[in-house]
Amino acid sequence: MDFEFSDEQLAFVEEVEQFLDAHEDPEVFDVTRENMAQIVDTPPRRKFMAELGAKGWLGITWPLEYGGKDSDGVYEYLINEALARRGGPQIGKGVGIIGKTLIRHGSEKLKREFLPKILRNEVEFAVGYSEPNAGSDAASMQLKATRDGDGWTLNGQKTWTTSAHFAEWYWVGARTDPEAPKHNGITLFLVPLDHPGITIKAIWTMGDERTNEVYFDDVWVSDDYVVGELNRGFQYISEALDLERFTMFTFSQIAQRLDVLCDYVATSTRDGEPLRRDPLVRRRLAQLATQAEVARVLGLKFVAESSKGGAAPTAEASQYKLYATELSKRLADASMDIGGPGSQLRVKTADAPMAGRAESTYRYTVIDTIGGGASEIQKNIVARRKLGLPKNF
Ligand SMILES: Cc1cc2nc3c(=O)[nH]c(=O)nc-3n(C[C@H](O)[C@H](O)[C@H](O)COP(=O)(O)OP(=O)(O)OC[C@H]3O[C@@H](n4cnc5c(N)ncnc54)[C@H](O)[C@@H]3O)c2cc1C
Repeated sequence: MDFEFSDEQLAFVEEVEQFLDAHEDPEVFDVTRENMAQIVDTPPRRKFMAELGAKGWLGITWPLEYGGKDSDGVYEYLINEALARRGGPQIGKGVGIIGKTLIRHGSEKLKREFLPKILRNEVEFAVGYSEPNAGSDAASMQLKATRDGDGWTLNGQKTWTTSAHFAEWYWVGARTDPEAPKHNGITLFLVPLDHPGITIKAIWTMGDERTNEVYFDDVWVSDDYVVGELNRGFQYISEALDLERFTMFTFSQIAQRLDVLCDYVATSTRDGEPLRRDPLVRRRLAQLATQAEVARVLGLKFVAESSKGGAAPTAEASQYKLYATELSKRLADASMDIGGPGSQLRVKTADAPMAGRAESTYRYTVIDTIGGGASEIQKNIVARRKLGLPKNF
């Protein structure tokens, strides 16, 4: 496998970087939001993404018939990684998860309604799988959908729904057949988040970002907004999760944080001695740099497998997510250790080592090992899907 980019791909990166240079704006790009920088939650961020859409860079891998460019997956990867490195909004749920799943499974009506809006960045989505008693085991979800005329009435609760407080549409799973085995009784719906009967309440994370509880009280949804076939929602959710585990956990933030740590080590002293001479510090940095290369290559492997067409590769998605997010935590630990007591100071505190990034990444990176499926679940998937081992329960 060739891990280098072609001249054409490198020229594309150059073009993207020039575009980003021309749009430099602290209201759009902020690395201190860590992985949450990816969400498109403010008017300046929406405007910027619309400009990216006007360039034809949203949905670049989608088929021509749906407004895409039919490009190889590596181009989407290169754009997304360039955005992530600067702490910019990313292709996220609309292009990377919901659009792709609609293209594979959505009705013509849903494709016509949503795909053009996604390409112009006119719509934001929230994703609702988790419930108070269904997280790792999402197939146990109990949000109840009852047949009602030409549609369904939804009642119950979701939790941990990121983006629900600013998104327009909810991509949400509900139980349409309580008698069927749990994986076969779930249907996926698209519901407007301003629908009467929906209540959204904030949950603040240890990363200082907001996620939400969402309550449904007699929320009626037409059959037109059922995604794919009735009772096959869990299969679509599983595919969408494979996309999420790659698209929403970019590699370049790891590289960017490693650069911050290396700069600190190269320029700081401890007890009058340059840190860069400390053998333990050097050894730890070398290990992290090697592990970062492993994460990068696992990401490229996912891109290469995805480019073969069909659904996203499940085991590769889990392998990448597991390794990259656990590495992010190890890197944050190292930044705290090497930065010393001052690294507990927060971002934007004068004189904080690494401008306070050690502290923010230390808190934030825990979340990445849980959202999108916890590390233990990724290990189970790799054990079963890659190694052919039996289920553990
Ligand atoms: C910041 C944040 C944002 C999120 N955003 C969203 C969102 O937008 N939409 C959404 O639907 N969900 C979202 N989630 C929810 C996330 O997907 C769940 O938190 C996650 O799947 C874990 O579920 P749980 O919290 O219920 O933990 P549990 O499932 O109760 O797990 C608790 C612990 O047990 C372990 N465990 C569970 N089952 C097994 C097993 N079979 N084998 C080994 N270990 C196991 C887990 O790994 C974990 O360590 C978000 C979560 C966070 C923290």
